[in-house]
Amino acid sequence: MVERGFEDWLIPQGYCWQCGQGMNRASGHPEPPRPGDFTLCFSCLSLNVFTPFLSFRKPMLAEYELALKDRTVQRMRRAMIEAKEAVARGES
Ligand SMILES: [Zn+2]
Repeated sequence: MVERGFEDWLIPQGYCWQCGQGMNRASGHPEPPRPGDFTLCFSCLSLNVFTPFLSFRKPMLAEYELALKDRTVQRMRRAMIEAKEAVARGES
């Protein structure tokens, strides 16, 4: 089940295919996530793809190529890097 959270979407517990980080929220999009949508792991910043069950899988090569050209994905990735750098500097 997907529910509207405070500023994000509550999704079934899933795990980043790359690092195993648990994820149960999707943020930064006005619509709930759908199968095939991209998301980024906040822990390792890896690209993940939503499965039909809204868990996560490794992208296929063509999906990596699409994500590289997707302004939203790249903007989110930069924002996440900046947020992590701010935390590392003790600014949050
Ligand atoms: Zn990860």
